[in-house]
Amino acid sequence: MMERITDQQIEKGLQMLRSLQDGKLITHVNSCVHCGLCGESCLYYLANKEAKFLPAMKVDLVSSVYKRYFTFTGRVFPKLINARDLDQETTEEMVDLLFGACTMCGRCNIHCSIGVDIAFLVRTGRMMLTEMGLTPATLQSTVNAALTTGNNMGITKEEFVDTLNWLEEDLREEVNDPEASIPLNEKGKKLMYTLNPREPKFFPLSISAMAKVFYAAKESWTLSTEMYDVTNYAFFSGNPKEAKVIADRMHAEFKSLGAKELVLAECGHGDRAYRWEAPNYMKTKLDYKVYTSVELLADYIKSGRIKVDKEKIKQRVTLHDPCNLARNGGVVSEQRYVLSQTVSDFVEMTPHGIDNLCCGGGGGQLAMSEYNERRMKIGRLKADQIRNTGAQIVVTPCHNCVDQLSQLNSFYKLNVQIKTLAEIVADALIID
Ligand code: SF4
Ligand code: SF4
Repeated sequence: MMERITDQQIEKGLQMLRSLQDGKLITHVNSCVHCGLCGESCLYYLANKEAKFLPAMKVDLVSSVYKRYFTFTGRVFPKLINARDLDQETTEEMVDLLFGACTMCGRCNIHCSIGVDIAFLVRTGRMMLTEMGLTPATLQSTVNAALTTGNNMGITKEEFVDTLNWLEEDLREEVNDPEASIPLNEKGKKLMYTLNPREPKFFPLSISAMAKVFYAAKESWTLSTEMYDVTNYAFFSGNPKEAKVIADRMHAEFKSLGAKELVLAECGHGDRAYRWEAPNYMKTKLDYKVYTSVELLADYIKSGRIKVDKEKIKQRVTLHDPCNLARNGGVVSEQRYVLSQTVSDFVEMTPHGIDNLCCGGGGGQLAMSEYNERRMKIGRLKADQIRNTGAQIVVTPCHNCVDQLSQLNSFYKLNVQIKTLAEIVADALIID
């Protein structure tokens, strides 16, 4: 049960909405024609078949409040246009549906008959709620960990360096070269590489995989111990000021190391938050090349800089496209090219690419444990998609998706392996 909201909180929420008023917001809050077509695109509606989970209902929550306070009819005859007060009931619904029933996957956007940017309106609602101090505590604590420790898992520098040291020893043994390294804080390298903190915490082998690829490519690269976290959960909580602090830190560390290009790790939302959203938060253009490791891996293979043998991986492989990388980030063909060169039996999910179904873990859902049951329920659609391919390995270039797919794997007994793209490339690698 949520605490009673105060007049001051209501005023703060409305102030935020007022400050966001521009041509885009006004267009999208006034466009929905209630055709219902978006319903079939949303995991929450498909898994629950309850009207409240329709994307259009999430649109309505924000637009009915907007109309109540910022239109003449809404102020004078609110009932005529279903305009709603920002009161206790509306606010509770907003928290439950905008935070707890949307992964901000954007699939509904491409299915909307008239192009309403539904995910943008969900984010607008989240920004209002965050301004009112109503961000779910679980999500806010993830943001706070990033703000106070430099990474969202609160990993200490000692822990991080220890992990990298033993990974480096393993790498030397594996490639039989005492000079092989995982460079830390080296200045003037061509690439600064980043990580999702889930890697050092839970999946260190994906760091080894990428280090092995860099070794094979004879790349000039470095990691930073000061700022390596590619994620930015303030993008999901709807707090542009906190998102800016996190993005500024990455920018400053890149500049201080004097690298030439920034390579974003396999993390859909992290890639989007830095590559496409950070210039808005930071109010500056990034004057260096920023791209994803997915594009880098494709480029290494295409250019012949690394050699791979697809006969090494005989199992059937399928691909899960992270929403923020593919649909919202435009990286679609590169992961397919890499798989076409590294595995011998690849099968697509249906649907896939920009129309792919979200895994159910995006939008900060993995951080908000209070919605775990809902998250597992909506994940059934992804589990069915995977099962229908008959694949034994699911590749996904995103550590958030790896986490959600791993949970679905055990919950729905899929009996598959979940791998990142770097891990597949490392498995197929030929090192002379
Ligand atoms: S963005 Fe995704 S989860 Fe949110 S309403 Fe649209 S389809 Fe549903
Ligand atoms: S498809 Fe678009 S216009 Fe139709 S109900 Fe959904 S949001 Fe509204």
